[in-house]
Amino acid sequence: TTFADLGLADSLMRAIADVGYTTPTPIQAQAIPRVLEGRDLLAAAQTGTGKTAGFTLPILHLLLSKPAELRKPGRPRCLILTPTRELTAQVEESVKTYGVHTNISSMVMFGGVNINPQINALRKPLDILVATPGRLLDHCGQRTVDLSGVEILVLDEADRMLDMGFIRDIRKILALLPRQRQNLLFSATFSDEIRELSKGVLRDAIEVSV
Ligand code: AMP
Repeated sequence: TTFADLGLADSLMRAIADVGYTTPTPIQAQAIPRVLEGRDLLAAAQTGTGKTAGFTLPILHLLLSKPAELRKPGRPRCLILTPTRELTAQVEESVKTYGVHTNISSMVMFGGVNINPQINALRKPLDILVATPGRLLDHCGQRTVDLSGVEILVLDEADRMLDMGFIRDIRKILALLPRQRQNLLFSATFSDEIRELSKGVLRDAIEVSV
């Protein structure tokens, strides 16, 4: 598989050329076509496999190809949950890198810092929100974030989120999302807990493993 085979938007192909990638990694070759088809995905992939581009590239493509007239401040179309502030920053960096030639907007949100700058940042229209679960729920409680427009949900490093005790927060967040949505779950390991979470979140998912 080449990147040209994947059918990604020209603006994304330009960003891929900018960063100098020549060939999709195995997780990218497997995941990108399925995500583009709108399928749910259960992916076993560690950091370093290229998994971040594996979900950010097709998500950017999908958001570019869908009408965005419902784009509103504080109302993301894609929600990416990760366990740590470092990971939110890394994932959003990828979103910015691959989305550099698009007008897709993104922001990060994590706890342990003052909430007010985040509230200010939420006053701009938002496409992709990358967040840790606890702080996201704080915002939902204050109604500074509205999750009713989420079309795509990503649970990144889901095993670490469970290890860190985020399961209850994740369940609360799931209850705030529209039922009709696409779901992608990435985990380094597939424990019984991950299987159970997947059952509650994913619908007719494709499984990929690298
Ligand atoms: P990740 O597993 O998402 O943390 O990505 C690991 C590293 O691989 C990152 O530094 C990416 O920039 C890099 N990378 C992702 N996709 C490709 C690719 N197709 N070719 C070369 N490097 C890549």
